[in-house]
Amino acid sequence: MNKILQNFLLIVLLFIAISAVFAFLNPQALQGTKEISFTQLVQDVNQDKVDKIEAAGNDLTIYYKAENNQPASKAVSIKENNGTLNENLKKQGADETKVNGLNIVFKKESPGVWDWLMPLALILPVVIFGFLFWGIFKQAKTGANQTFSFLKSPAKVFGDGKNQGEKVTFKDVAGVEEAKEEIKEVVDFLKNPQKFLKMGARIPRGVLLIGPPGTGKTLLAKAVANESNVPFFSMSGSEFIELFVGVGASRVRSLFETAKKNQPCIVFIDEIDSIGKIRGVGMGGGHEEREQTLNQILAEMDGFEKNAEVIVFAATNRPEYLDPALLRPGRFDRRIILDLPDIQGREDILKIHCQDKPLAGNVKLREVAERTPGFSGADLSNLVNEAAILAARREKEVVNQTELLESIEKVLLGPERKSHLLSQREKEISAYHEAGHALISSVLPNTEEVRKVSIVSRGMAAGYTLALPKDEKRIKTKSEFLAELAVLLGGYATEKLVFNELSTGASNDLQKASHLARALVTKYGMSKLGPIVFGKRESLPFLGWETETERDYSEKTASDIDAETERFIKEAELKATAVLQQQRKTLERIAKVLIEKETIEKEEFEVLVGIKQQNHKNSRKSKGAEVGV
Ligand code: ADP
Ligand code: MG
Ligand code: ZN
Repeated sequence: MNKILQNFLLIVLLFIAISAVFAFLNPQALQGTKEISFTQLVQDVNQDKVDKIEAAGNDLTIYYKAENNQPASKAVSIKENNGTLNENLKKQGADETKVNGLNIVFKKESPGVWDWLMPLALILPVVIFGFLFWGIFKQAKTGANQTFSFLKSPAKVFGDGKNQGEKVTFKDVAGVEEAKEEIKEVVDFLKNPQKFLKMGARIPRGVLLIGPPGTGKTLLAKAVANESNVPFFSMSGSEFIELFVGVGASRVRSLFETAKKNQPCIVFIDEIDSIGKIRGVGMGGGHEEREQTLNQILAEMDGFEKNAEVIVFAATNRPEYLDPALLRPGRFDRRIILDLPDIQGREDILKIHCQDKPLAGNVKLREVAERTPGFSGADLSNLVNEAAILAARREKEVVNQTELLESIEKVLLGPERKSHLLSQREKEISAYHEAGHALISSVLPNTEEVRKVSIVSRGMAAGYTLALPKDEKRIKTKSEFLAELAVLLGGYATEKLVFNELSTGASNDLQKASHLARALVTKYGMSKLGPIVFGKRESLPFLGWETETERDYSEKTASDIDAETERFIKEAELKATAVLQQQRKTLERIAKVLIEKETIEKEEFEVLVGIKQQNHKNSRKSKGAEVGV
């Protein structure tokens, strides 16, 4: 719009300039020459004063003779419209002889300023409108180009010499050795396609990277981009979906078109679950768009010629939500699993992220790895970073083991909130509550090892008991679930037993316990109702749990499920209360120390409960630490 305004101003200026030029060319208009009447002119003619008359149409310029010592002067006048100048002069009573002796010069009518300006005034609006329309059309045209350019894929391109800043290599990825090996093999296909084609082998079309969040799927893909030496087009699943329907499919088309032009190359679609959701189910709208986009991907992958040297990588956290059609041979027929790292993997990942940080001599990354089962690569990277920040805040030269260990909890639970002061009463309640969790966790078999008990607020929690499995396991048993339920209810049971009163502090525990108990019945088949799964569920990624989307059982079963859930909870509470009553003294001891010191570390806790209590339980649980709040 600014441009149009500019043009407009330019035109106005031009207009003024032209007027000025014409005014200058027609000096008469400016020079304020004396104007005399025609009668005066006649008199002057009779008195022989006039030397010469210039006539341009009806305009007369009169040149007087130089008189005595006065210089020759000039005047203007106008004659009547009809008749010649001679006739007019005579008619007004000028002497015939004098008139005949006059020196009259006829000139072409000189155009006045307005004679020029009039046509200009007519043309100008046309010109202005022309400019306006031109501007608008120009704008509309670029607008249209923009409109259509978003149909193209905004894929990032790697491996074309740009994007050199981020040089991730296979060396930067640890703890996922099998996945790395498999990927290297696929990349080999691209580097040496002839070797494989000669054998009649088909180049794998699609490779799906599956693994929990933060295990390095995106990282691995970036490493592939840098190590494969072929163009690498990267796009996130969510980038396909825009406000407008049809954009997704169009972007897919454009992405694959570019890819085909650049073979051999790799196309990487990150977080494909955001488009690849099972068609036809799920909550919320926008399915049509997803479906179209997904269909387009399927069509494109099918459309490759047999020897096309394009490999499509995709990554997802939730393979269960991928459309089975995506997983068909000829599409994503290779699946590479990235798991949460084991202890060795964690140590290696820690090493990678500690590379550029000054470490104290006392740092033992193995110990950090031991204490972080269930941490993903991203968590570990976060942990190291937190430790570095902590060390910097403490004005230290190097990162010490203490900072690393402290950061574990920070990553797990959020920052300590020391300023969140509890009243004496609140402190007591929290202390007993946490002591209850911790005690039950240490007494019952099949629970996790207590690493720390604290009543310092962290994140949302007023206090916490940190229990971690000793080593990771992929499978959980019913006994472990039941023990977990008892631990979860430990806080609640303690408050009831000690204060004969309940508080809001247990609400989070109860929520988790209820959810777990219900899952035992409806999901794991661990109740009296037998090995049946009830209801269809969908996970709510942002909440981290599931919601039931479809009820496929009768009212009667629903009430049976409720009854079983209730039974699990009741039994867990009874079990917890029994332990607490038995070990009331120990409970008091832990609570007293907690009120005094606010935090108890593993070693001190074990002394307090007189551990090496015969049950050195099997630890378990593969994912995350158990945190009783
Ligand atoms: P996702 O699997 O969710 O795509 P990312 O690849 O984005 O996870 O990982 C996030 C960050 O976590 C990485 O940038 C890296 O710093 C760290 N990370 C994750 N996994 C690993 C790993 N296996 N080795 C080293 N660093 C890792
Ligand atoms: Mg990712
Ligand atoms: Zn609790």
